[in-house]
Amino acid sequence: MTMTDTEFPFWGNNLALDFINTDLRKGGLKVDRLPDTKALVRWLVSAGIRPEGTSEPESWPASMDAAWQLRGVIFGMVTEFVSGTPHDPDRVAILNHHLTHIRPHHIVQPGTLGLDISSGWYTERLDRALAPIALSAARLLDSKNSGRVRQCDNAECPVYFYDVSNGNKRRWCSMDLCGNRHKAATHYRRHQHANAKFDRR
Ligand SMILES: [Zn+2]
Repeated sequence: MTMTDTEFPFWGNNLALDFINTDLRKGGLKVDRLPDTKALVRWLVSAGIRPEGTSEPESWPASMDAAWQLRGVIFGMVTEFVSGTPHDPDRVAILNHHLTHIRPHHIVQPGTLGLDISSGWYTERLDRALAPIALSAARLLDSKNSGRVRQCDNAECPVYFYDVSNGNKRRWCSMDLCGNRHKAATHYRRHQHANAKFDRR
């Protein structure tokens, strides 16, 4: 998972937020980066949930609604969390349903001394592939993360992120995009202001 992935930006610093950030709506913006199962498979590979080189299982297209529904549920719960609103019980029930599909597995391989253990997910079924995202949401929406889940400071930008910075000071989805745009706008305003002063002399 990288911050520079061009098809799917991973700016959320959290799997569940990266998942909802595939559906960007705000103002005039309407971008859905997961329009079909092929795109979902590419996202799951980029996110490290499915292994590289895997393709779209035959049974998935019929159940793609489950992926879009989970994305909408997590989006709703994140907005509830950020605004301090109690969670809708129907959303909680759907999240719990996805949590029942969690099937992690562990693999060991010989290390320099002893064994190295790593974990992965059984993801042949769509419900199992979505389960790690549900788990990420469940762990994120904990009171200890209050104030750490925020939307980008650019009023036009719908991206959510989990702020792990010291002092909780992160403002932008990405410095390269909204951060730089803000810097350029501030610079332009200062420049205009200085010129206006100069003109008055
Ligand atoms: Zn932004």
